[in-house]
Amino acid sequence: MTPLTGRAYGHPRPPDVDVLVVGAGITGIYQLYRALEAGFSAELWEAGGGVGGTWYWNRYPGARFDSESYTYAYLFSKELFEEWSWCEHFAEQPEIERYLNHVVDRFDLDRHIHLGARVTAATYDEPSGTWTLTAGDGSTTSARFLVAATGVLSVPYFPDIPGRHDFGGESYHTGLWPTTPVDFTGKRVAVIGTGSSGVQIIPLIAEEAASLTVYQRTPNWCTPLNNGPITAAEQAHLQAEFEAIKEILDTSPAGFLHQPHDRASTDDPPAERRAFFEKMWRSPGFSKLISHYTDVLFDDRANAQWCEFIADKVRGIVRDPAVAEKLIPKDHRFGEKRPPFVTGYYETYNKPNVSLVDLQETPIVDMTAAGIETADGVREFDIVVWATGFDFGTGALLRMGIVGRGGLTLAEHWSEGPRTFLGIQTAGFPNLFFPGGPHAAAGNNPRYNGDQVDFVTDTLVHLRDRGYDSVEVEPTAEQRWTAMIDRGAAKSTFGEISYYFGTNIPGKPKKYLLNSGGRPKLFAMIDEVVANGYKAFRLARSADSSTSSA
Ligand SMILES: Cc1cc2nc3c(=O)[nH]c(=O)nc-3n(C[C@H](O)[C@H](O)[C@H](O)COP(=O)(O)OP(=O)(O)OC[C@H]3O[C@@H](n4cnc5c(N)ncnc54)[C@H](O)[C@@H]3O)c2cc1C
Repeated sequence: MTPLTGRAYGHPRPPDVDVLVVGAGITGIYQLYRALEAGFSAELWEAGGGVGGTWYWNRYPGARFDSESYTYAYLFSKELFEEWSWCEHFAEQPEIERYLNHVVDRFDLDRHIHLGARVTAATYDEPSGTWTLTAGDGSTTSARFLVAATGVLSVPYFPDIPGRHDFGGESYHTGLWPTTPVDFTGKRVAVIGTGSSGVQIIPLIAEEAASLTVYQRTPNWCTPLNNGPITAAEQAHLQAEFEAIKEILDTSPAGFLHQPHDRASTDDPPAERRAFFEKMWRSPGFSKLISHYTDVLFDDRANAQWCEFIADKVRGIVRDPAVAEKLIPKDHRFGEKRPPFVTGYYETYNKPNVSLVDLQETPIVDMTAAGIETADGVREFDIVVWATGFDFGTGALLRMGIVGRGGLTLAEHWSEGPRTFLGIQTAGFPNLFFPGGPHAAAGNNPRYNGDQVDFVTDTLVHLRDRGYDSVEVEPTAEQRWTAMIDRGAAKSTFGEISYYFGTNIPGKPKKYLLNSGGRPKLFAMIDEVVANGYKAFRLARSADSSTSSA
């Protein structure tokens, strides 16, 4: 191996490391592994006190996968896949956190990881072609390449409710859950928000609390997760079929094992359609999107029929008809927002200690030291749980203090929304990559985030093999990719009501934050880049700043 650091390229002062990864989630851990495996010197800085990213921070009761455990897990090592036996098809947070810690230990990554280091400034130094990093704990370092694997759902959002800081009881955001367990026993608890996290935590709090009041802004189309333990026979099958499973997961558009259906809703008469809806209701997780009738996400009538089926289920489960109606979405179709998957959620509203406040009818006017005041009065609480989501996509990157060439800040460059190529690089910021950030694909996160990490690593090797030490996407390539995303956004099944457009954050530009071309477009473009010798990028030797496209 030839390290990129050192004086081989004539730099006055070599950087401390070749590759500095920020973020110890599933993406950053993989990036650290790949960089070290490829022979680069590498370190990882993480703001949290442990590794796991999402699965470190979101340790609230009920936090679990919506992706099947074995499809979310790493596939780069057959031995790792075979030696880890997931307990459930959709594992709970503690098991996921244990798994990611196991990966770090097993591949001896620990000694390269610096915890408690929140990067607050990252500045590109043009003459040396390196990044200088500063963290909140006072650490500084320099790196040739900066890989920000800072996550799309890693900046918790609190709505700006008057008096929010006046509340005198305990207060927790699901995405910032404490490492010591929260005791709800006998407490008066409020949960604000009924998105994916809210609907996971609500049934569990209801089991312990004296009273639980749920504050709902908008209901979602929740369908059963249909989780279960993995049997010994299933475990044996998973281990025997690693290669086949990997092949599907490495190539499928959304990175799941679920297969698309071959029929439209109009192909079946009403009785069979109803039976198929029932089958979907009982099917696991995301199969309700991927393996559904081919027209259900795209045709208004098919979608409305499926929504009516779900609404009937809710009416059948929730005994109070007025509460049931409040839990049925009226403002969006199924699939227009990321649909949550639930276990015992609707049943929770039959418990005598649970009540629902519809914030469209009675908005919150104030928070006081004792509780929450809505248009119809004050309720007092011991604990308030904020299940109010995240600043999706760009939140973490825009808080990292990134300054590129010529003093250009990322915040300026992205003032009207993210501009990227492949969701991996942005023009004006040489040697900065952000796999798993905005404009990545959509579906099972680790699969397409992993594709991006593989491309980043291959790019670094490509540079090293040819004696380059700087890579920056051409503005035209960035423009093309971003325009593709914006064009596709108009046709996306996700609506502007979804946080995928940033509309949950006041003042945020309304831009599609996923990759509307999906994983197939990512694959196609990566193939094109490699086939034409990285023409979309400007490759350079920073010492003499000569450039080339090959
Ligand atoms: C409750 C919940 C459940 C989810 N379930 C699923 C699921 O079932 N399937 C699925 O595909 N996706 C799911 N997701 C999405 C999930 O975020 C991704 O699957 C995955 O965890 C992303 O990994 P990542 O490494 O890219 O980012 P993250 O896991 O978010 O890790 C990013 C890390 O970067 C760190 N960081 C950020 N900024 C800085 C900084 N300035 N300095 C230092 N460190 C920093 C953060 O502390 C964090 O630890 C879920 C998300 C949530 C919140």
